[in-house]
Amino acid sequence: MNKQYLLTPGPTPLPPQVSLAMARPIIHHRTPQFQEILKEAGTGLKWVFQTANDVFIISSSGTGAMEAAVINLLSCGDTALVVQGGKFGERWTEIAKAYGVNTEVLDVEWGKAVNPQEIQKRLKSNPQIKAVFTTLCETSTGVDNDIAAIAAVVKAGPAVLVVDAISGLGAVDLKTDAWGVDVVVAGSQKGLMLPPGLGFITVSSKAWKLVEAAKSGRYYLDLRKAKKALDKNDTPFTSSITLIDALNEALKIMQKDGLEYIFKRHKTMADATRAAAKALGLELFAPTAPSDGVTAVKVPSGIDGEKLVKTMRDTYGVTIAGGQAELKGKIFRIAHMGYIAESDIITGLSCLEKVLTQMGYKFTLGAGIKAAEEVFLKG
Ligand SMILES: *Cc1c(COP(=O)(O)O)cnc(C)c1O
Repeated sequence: MNKQYLLTPGPTPLPPQVSLAMARPIIHHRTPQFQEILKEAGTGLKWVFQTANDVFIISSSGTGAMEAAVINLLSCGDTALVVQGGKFGERWTEIAKAYGVNTEVLDVEWGKAVNPQEIQKRLKSNPQIKAVFTTLCETSTGVDNDIAAIAAVVKAGPAVLVVDAISGLGAVDLKTDAWGVDVVVAGSQKGLMLPPGLGFITVSSKAWKLVEAAKSGRYYLDLRKAKKALDKNDTPFTSSITLIDALNEALKIMQKDGLEYIFKRHKTMADATRAAAKALGLELFAPTAPSDGVTAVKVPSGIDGEKLVKTMRDTYGVTIAGGQAELKGKIFRIAHMGYIAESDIITGLSCLEKVLTQMGYKFTLGAGIKAAEEVFLKG
C-alpha cells in the first residue's frame, strides 16, 4: 500500500476528469476538431485571467512564459524594475540579465510583501524604466503581493506591469483588466490543476506596443507569431494537444465553481493551515502577507527541517515542500492550491503532527487538527 498525497506548490494533484481527458486518443492539431478545443480554451483562459485580451498558450513550463514576457517587451539595453523578494523574483532578474536588459532591483526582505510606494519612488527617480516585473504569489516565501495597489501605481505612468502569477492564478484573486495589469504569466501545474507543460501569457494593448517595438531576437516565443496564429484559431507550432484538452476539463470544473467560490475555498484552507501552525506553537514565515495558495512555516529550533519533509514523504506518502535556496531546512511549505480539499489539509496536518512528535517536538497532539477543524466548521 503506497497511498500518496501531494501538497506541494506545483505540481499539484489532478482531478480525475483531467487525468481521464489525457487518456483520450490524440487528434491532429490542424483540424476543425482541435480548433474547437482551442477556441474553448481561449474563452476559458480569458475568464480565469479576468481579461478581455488574448491569452497565449506556450508549450513550456511557467518559466518559458516568463522568458516570453521579457523578450517580447524589452530589447537589449532597456531598463526594467524587478521586485525581488524571493527565488521567483530573482528569476525575473536572471532572465532579464540573460537578454542584456538593465535591471534595477528592488530588494524586499524575504517573507515580506513589496511596499507599492517603493515602486512608485523608483519609477519617479528613473524614468527609463519600461517595465516593472513582480510576483503575485512568491511561492518560495509564501507571500502574496498586493497587485491591485502595485497596478494603481504603475498604470499612472508609461511603464508596463508584468505579473508572475504562475502559482497564484486560480488560487488568489487577480483582476487583470479591472486593476490595469498589463502582462500576466501563468503555468499549468499549480492553481490550474494540470500537469506541468503549459505556459500562459496575456498582454494588454499598452504592452502590445512594446511587443511590436522590441528588437530582441525571438523565434519560438515570438508573441507576434502567436497572435497571427491565434487570430486563425491556431498555434504557431504543434499545439500541446493533450494538455490543452485537459485544460478545458480543468476550466470546466473551475467555471462550475466560480471564481468567488474558488478564492474563498483557498482562503479557508489557508486560514485553517495557518491556525494549525499557530496551535502547534509554530511560526509563520510570512505573517504580514501570507499567501492563500501556500503556507510557509518556520522549522522549530532543534528539528531537522529537511528530515521532516523527507520522513513525511518517504515514510507516510505525504509530500510537502521544504525551503529553497537560503531557506533550505529553515521552512516547510504546505500548498493548498488547485485540486486540494479540506480532507487533504487534515491528512497533511495529521502527518505533520505525527512526524514532529516522532522527532521530539513538544506540543499537544491533535492541537493543529483541532484548530483547522474549527476554521472549517465556520466555513
Ligand atoms: C513554480 C513557479 C515558477 C516556475 O515555474 P516552472 O513551471 O517551474 O517553470 C515561477 N514563478 C512562480 C511564482 C512559481 O511558483
